[in-house]
Amino acid sequence: LPPHMKMDGGGNVRVVVRVRAFLPREIERGAECLISMDPVMQSTTLHVPNDSDPANAKARTRKVVEEKSFTFDNSFWSHDKEDRHYAHQEEVYNALGEEFLDHNFEGYHTCIFAYGQTGSGKSYTMMGTPDQPGLIPRTCEDLFQRIEAAQNETPNISYHVRASYFEVYNEHVRDLLVPVVPNQAPYYLKIRESPSEGPYVKDLTEVPVRSLNEILRYMKLGDASRTVASTKMNDTSSRSHAVFTIMLKQIHHDMETDETTERSSRIRLVDLAGSERAKSTEATGARLREGSNINKSLTTLGRVIAALADPKHRPGGKRNKDIVPYRDSILTWLLKDSLGGNSKTAMIACIAPSDYEETLSTLRYADQAK
Ligand code: ADP
Repeated sequence: LPPHMKMDGGGNVRVVVRVRAFLPREIERGAECLISMDPVMQSTTLHVPNDSDPANAKARTRKVVEEKSFTFDNSFWSHDKEDRHYAHQEEVYNALGEEFLDHNFEGYHTCIFAYGQTGSGKSYTMMGTPDQPGLIPRTCEDLFQRIEAAQNETPNISYHVRASYFEVYNEHVRDLLVPVVPNQAPYYLKIRESPSEGPYVKDLTEVPVRSLNEILRYMKLGDASRTVASTKMNDTSSRSHAVFTIMLKQIHHDMETDETTERSSRIRLVDLAGSERAKSTEATGARLREGSNINKSLTTLGRVIAALADPKHRPGGKRNKDIVPYRDSILTWLLKDSLGGNSKTAMIACIAPSDYEETLSTLRYADQAK
């Protein structure tokens, strides 16, 4: 890996950005691409919108004149398939997922989350499509391939995998592996804290999984549950944070001493709520509360990540745990063990190619996490 991509050189937070291609409706209205990326410098530039694009009226009112450039650990160009730098799902996995899985086998917790406005490519990046699987199914596939290979090479280590899938909506936790009962209000779980394990969701379904097919079935089950609930409650999926967790336990059996040692790690893969929801100004009542709750989770997450990116929180640095505000939102509280300490965290900032204000806000959010 080039030096700027090594985790230990740059703190424990990896920040990458990915721009998606135009959607048919954007092509129809003749939207202009405001993003350019330099794959050598890993920089992303947001250009000033041209006068004619109605979607960027606000940027015109603000009279923005300067282009804005940011440098990240990776800038994934997924806008133009003809471009030789086009980042397929596989490249995103190879650049990030694979290395994070290495960390998991070494016993570290990891957390990868996708941030961005609704429609910017978060689900595409995390979940993908049946033809173009994203980070979550690729991580599962690689995990079981590695376990299979290891079982032949090191038969004295046994591997145990469990999975859970929940969403945080409006500062409540819902189990996505429990089927949605028609005409019944969603059932929310409570959060508890144990001295050894830290914060956890009480009564959350954690299923043991033995094969790739099995874990993919649970993944789809949870996705379906999220979708069923979202059509009932008017598109919640863009307003909830979905957390897919894989728990990996390696039990090493020493043949000579007959002793066993365990190594456990947690893999968190998070599809965050749409970032535009956080600042919707017209909302009132329930929508306003929901907006401010999303805001609370996303701004707290931003503050937690920024605090972790600060050199004094790096391993070996002088740490002051109190100033990392985990407790300020349910999401950060639950992800605490996967964000700080020896855990490895990555943020994928997803951006649309032609939305000046939202993209600028996403790039700034990502920038403060570096
Ligand atoms: P979000 O989860 O942020 O709301 P989606 O992942 O649903 O956004 O993406 C919106 C649309 O754009 C979907 O139709 C998706 O298939 C498409 N899309 C997103 N990212 C890409 C990409 N990198 N390449 C091709 N299509 C993409």
